[in-house]
Amino acid sequence: MTGRPAEFPEGRLSVRGRLAHDKASRSAAGQDFGRVVRQEPWAVFRPESAEDVSALVRFAAAQRRAVAPRGRGHSTFGQAQAADGIVLDLSGLRAVHEVGPDFVDVDAGASWRSVVLATVPRGLTPPVLTDYLGLSVGGTLSVGGVGGVTHRHGMQTDNVLRLDVVTGDGVARTCSAHTESTLFHAVLGGLGQCGVITRARLRLVPAPARVRRYKLYYATPRRLTADQRRLLASDRFPYLEGQLKPDASGWRPRLEAASFFSPPELPLDESLLDDLGHERGSEEIEDLSYVDFVDRLTSSEADLRATGEWFHPHPWWNAFLPGSTVDDLVEEVAARVTPDDIGAGGALLLYPFTRRRLTTPLVRTPDDPVVFLFAILRTAPPDQPTAVEEIIRLNRALYEQVRAAGGTRYPVGTVPFDRADWVRHFGTAWPSLHEAKERYDPHHVLTPGQGIF
Ligand SMILES: Cc1cc2nc3c(=O)[nH]c(=O)nc-3n(C[C@H](O)[C@H](O)[C@H](O)COP(=O)(O)OP(=O)(O)OC[C@H]3O[C@@H](n4cnc5c(N)ncnc54)[C@H](O)[C@@H]3O)c2cc1C
Repeated sequence: MTGRPAEFPEGRLSVRGRLAHDKASRSAAGQDFGRVVRQEPWAVFRPESAEDVSALVRFAAAQRRAVAPRGRGHSTFGQAQAADGIVLDLSGLRAVHEVGPDFVDVDAGASWRSVVLATVPRGLTPPVLTDYLGLSVGGTLSVGGVGGVTHRHGMQTDNVLRLDVVTGDGVARTCSAHTESTLFHAVLGGLGQCGVITRARLRLVPAPARVRRYKLYYATPRRLTADQRRLLASDRFPYLEGQLKPDASGWRPRLEAASFFSPPELPLDESLLDDLGHERGSEEIEDLSYVDFVDRLTSSEADLRATGEWFHPHPWWNAFLPGSTVDDLVEEVAARVTPDDIGAGGALLLYPFTRRRLTTPLVRTPDDPVVFLFAILRTAPPDQPTAVEEIIRLNRALYEQVRAAGGTRYPVGTVPFDRADWVRHFGTAWPSLHEAKERYDPHHVLTPGQGIF
């Protein structure tokens, strides 16, 4: 690429000596959790401060070299990669700063686990947590961030008070819903297109003392979604999810709900479960500390690392479905993707949300009062690229089906998308994203792995 280094002299001077070009660094940064796409960068940069990020982005802009911020690399389709560009590895920028009475300031590379471990001892928690806490704050704020309480509190992007951002011109800026709101709304759910989040002020709420977790099993997915709707309407549980797990007889629909409580008061199981349509006697109920509950996937991660499956290809698929068409779509997908296809460790996730809680303009969800996250979590066999290619073709076909039925893509998964797809995906939000891109990242250096600009 040609450059005009004189345009950004200070960045050029301070950064060049700190770029890692060694094979191990480039190889690690050219890979992600998906293990589907592999694009080695020209170099990797590990900032220790927002000033470092600023200097790096100035340097890259001068060189016209692409920059991909990388949180924890849990993308599945190269979203945090930069072929022949620079991966900005934020894993070292991970401090949890001030914990206030109702907010916490954290560096973008901090994991949600470290946020929880810093806030819960003070009786506070971010209202919305992803199921898995090993994701970075910047990584999920760039996409949305959904969990079991999204039906009450929206996504993680709906619970941000302020952001420090380095935009694509290398300028460090602070933005919120009231100050530089254009940038704020272009960065939250903005897939890294306009700026690198370096620090976030997150909303905190009182942390529950204890959690009672309920797993209820259903004869059919329709009965599961019927109860999910009933529970949304009654707002009985603060936490509500669901999934279809493979078992010997096919798909086994399961509702997962939780009540938060402080002993000696206890949840009243009978009144919570009485009018539900699950298979009687199938209930699994356990009490946990809040931290054990929100960090419950740590043991699964350890198991998958031990068997090696954690390192196999994960061509995951994620979409938001309108409540009005969810049942037909789930049945069609469950017929096309069999339990054998996704393996014992896989699942189809089905989480219900109230749409009015979802307020982030760039996180695109269907126009329906009730919206479901629907995801296919599958592990493909290693060293079988044709099997992965086949899954990607199916993922695209399923996306077409979902779009025709009014659904949208949750863009964390493995679906090939071209520019026309993105324009359609963002819909009425496209002009403002496009305008923000031209304003904040005029040289289009940021986050090429999304394939938007
Ligand atoms: C095991 C697992 C469990 C998951 N569970 C959930 C879940 O419960 N709920 C949910 O909503 N999602 C979930 N996801 C999806 C996950 O939220 C996204 O893939 C998320 O982007 C990953 O975070 P990360 O830190 O690994 O980001 P990365 O993969 O490193 O980056 C993701 C994207 O964000 C950009 N980016 C990263 N950091 C920044 C930054 N600081 N500023 C600007 N852009 C940035 C990257 O360039 C890239 O485009 C899960 C994924 C996995 C693999």
